[in-house]
Amino acid sequence: MLVATPIGNMGDLSPRAVDALRTAALVCCEDTRRTGKLLHLAGISARMAVANEHTEAARVDEVLELLSGGHDVAVVSDAGTPGISDPGERLVRAVLAAGHAVTAVPGPAAVVMALVMSGIDSTRFVFEGFLPRSGGERTERLAEVAAERRTTVMYEAPHRIVRTVHDLHRTCGPDRRIAIARELTKLHEELWHGTLDDAVAHVSETEPRGEYVVVLAGAAPAAAADDEAIRAAILAELGSGATRKDAVATVTARLGAAKRRVYEIATALPREPAGRTNDETR
Ligand code: SAM
Repeated sequence: MLVATPIGNMGDLSPRAVDALRTAALVCCEDTRRTGKLLHLAGISARMAVANEHTEAARVDEVLELLSGGHDVAVVSDAGTPGISDPGERLVRAVLAAGHAVTAVPGPAAVVMALVMSGIDSTRFVFEGFLPRSGGERTERLAEVAAERRTTVMYEAPHRIVRTVHDLHRTCGPDRRIAIARELTKLHEELWHGTLDDAVAHVSETEPRGEYVVVLAGAAPAAAADDEAIRAAILAELGSGATRKDAVATVTARLGAAKRRVYEIATALPREPAGRTNDETR
């Protein structure tokens, strides 16, 4: 059974969670000292075993044996919902594959709390977890985030929040709305919201401390391109050597215009625009 635990405020440990932890034959956790404190505060004495990112796979046999013997096993992470940027998923897959039931005690998850507090559209959203730290992978992911039409929620560490906000500003532009949630459910809980331009100033004002969640509004749909823009884009494609067919496909995708309209404009152009010899047969 996956058991969600508080992300800062012990009052968020639910009675069902306490019950599940008390009755489990084994509590799998990331860190026995941390979970030991939680159990102690809840007045529970339970057998614990480490199932962190390195040991989760090695814990599978023991868990399956207990489940086969009719015992309950609880899986917790250091904070929040196991499996959300935390271990848990491998155990779940192994337990399902072995034909056992998986249940969960729902509870805190920073992603959901930040999203609903952000004021940014929560009807459709994407959870990015932590962005890659550097290199091409980060550049690629930032480009994906910038193009994403749905709201994106990201986790971030305090020593990287300034860089991430600057990177988002560069890739998404100054006007995109963003909310930055910090220290949720804790004494210094804070929700800041504004444009990316304002966010750059905001994160530079104070030294970043604590845990952060970033909620970014989705990209606005591209404005419908007018005929002149479509014509110019087709000519540019043809001018750079594309066939008419490829130019239609590229311009349709890039401008989000109706393919039929792009095709009509392309076929109305002279066959050899700007002195080139591009046509469908090239
Ligand atoms: N499993 C957790 C959950 O359900 O939210 C997430 C664990 S992940 C390793 C830790 C990250 O979650 C932090 O770096 C931060 O981005 C976010 N986080 C966790 N607790 C938070 C809190 N109280 N306030 C803001 N962000 C939090």
